[in-house]
Amino acid sequence: MAKVKIVGIKGMNDMLPEDAAIWEKFEDTARSIAASYGYRQIRTPILEATQLFTRGIGEVTDIVEKEMYSFTDSMNGEALTLRPENTSAVVRCAIEHNLTYNAPQRLWYFGPMFRHERPQRGRYRQFHQFGCEALGFNGPDVDIELLAMTSRLWKALGIEARLELNSLGALEERAAHREALIAYFEKHADILDEDAKRRLHTNPLRILDTKNPEMQEMVNAAPKLLDFLGEESLAFLAKLEAGVQALGINYSINPRLVRGLDYYNHTVFEWITDKLGSQGTICGGGRYDPLIEMLGGRPTPAVGFAIGAERVIELVRETAGDVVKADCDVYIAHQGGHTEMVARQIGEKLRDCGKRVIVHAGSTSFKSMMKRADQSLAQWCVICGEGEVNENCVSVKRLRDAAGNQQFAEQMKVEIDQVTELFGQ
Ligand code: ATP
Ligand code: MG
Repeated sequence: MAKVKIVGIKGMNDMLPEDAAIWEKFEDTARSIAASYGYRQIRTPILEATQLFTRGIGEVTDIVEKEMYSFTDSMNGEALTLRPENTSAVVRCAIEHNLTYNAPQRLWYFGPMFRHERPQRGRYRQFHQFGCEALGFNGPDVDIELLAMTSRLWKALGIEARLELNSLGALEERAAHREALIAYFEKHADILDEDAKRRLHTNPLRILDTKNPEMQEMVNAAPKLLDFLGEESLAFLAKLEAGVQALGINYSINPRLVRGLDYYNHTVFEWITDKLGSQGTICGGGRYDPLIEMLGGRPTPAVGFAIGAERVIELVRETAGDVVKADCDVYIAHQGGHTEMVARQIGEKLRDCGKRVIVHAGSTSFKSMMKRADQSLAQWCVICGEGEVNENCVSVKRLRDAAGNQQFAEQMKVEIDQVTELFGQ
């Protein structure tokens, strides 16, 4: 029979065991920082009704127009989509379970998202986002809190990013700006590319977000939304800026920052790094007061952000280096037979004391056991030799110090009952 070679799907990555330590560092750090601001975890399914995203993200967006993995459920004909982002799903869940009925909610999530994009560095078809959503807060207090949280996360991970802020104002202000924009773009119709022409009357704001270099100059001179903001929106932005300044967070105002998604108002922000080439945005977020009502809930203000985990992890690797973690603290070698039983018993006792232990399995050649012990990067090796075990003893050898440097100390003979005391503290 001919062998079939089945490979993974393009743009969807395997996380190999050697990458686990850096992923865990990212996830653990993000989780504990979110918890330190009182955010609680929320998990929603990876599949949702397609309508959730077409309504919640907006028809004229990159995501809905060309990036969604959508299909019809062959069992019942339902239109389903693999989630391309999680804000809409969190909002769907909050409405369905009446989460904001009694009190506002501070929520975080982590998980895979799916977008059918052209795979390249920092841009994948399955990628992961860590995000927070604060539902039921008028802001800008929680907006500032989210910026403090993200800033703290970069510090904890040892990376640097710059913050860009903008305000999208309120609906009427965007409407007035939109008219001015359309008029301006119509005047420069000869420079507009196909995408821009298509969006001219549906979503002209998105043209500001263009990555086409030939349109940059024209777009730079386009009417700025900031100039259309009324008193209230300006006061909101001023408060936000004052709060961010008071925390000592550097930022710049980028009037062209509009974000890819349609449902944002007031605060929008991005954290950007120059170290990842053109995929430099590691976090995007903002306020989306209209969304909850748009999706059928009671009007509820909300703000959130999403961090691209793959991009942040690449940045951590680039700045702080890879994270190396030993597979275990103690590696236990033995010679088979009753020494193997003793090894397993010692292993359980050490695990009771909180140690991570590998009990050797497979060949009992001394050389191959020591090779495995060394590869595991364990600090200690316990050797259960037959003669010693018969005397109720084992040998203990220090392989590495706490910093992972190799040690060449002599092995010591230790009574089996004393082993847990040796490591137990
Ligand atoms: P971009 O302009 O880079 O396409 P976006 O506006 O589509 O980004 P958001 O929807 O705001 O991105 O998602 C938030 C974050 O998730 C991004 O800032 C980025 O870090 C990450 N992200 C988005 N799409 C991808 C992807 N295809 N692969 C990896 N990370 C991604
Ligand atoms: Mg995108």
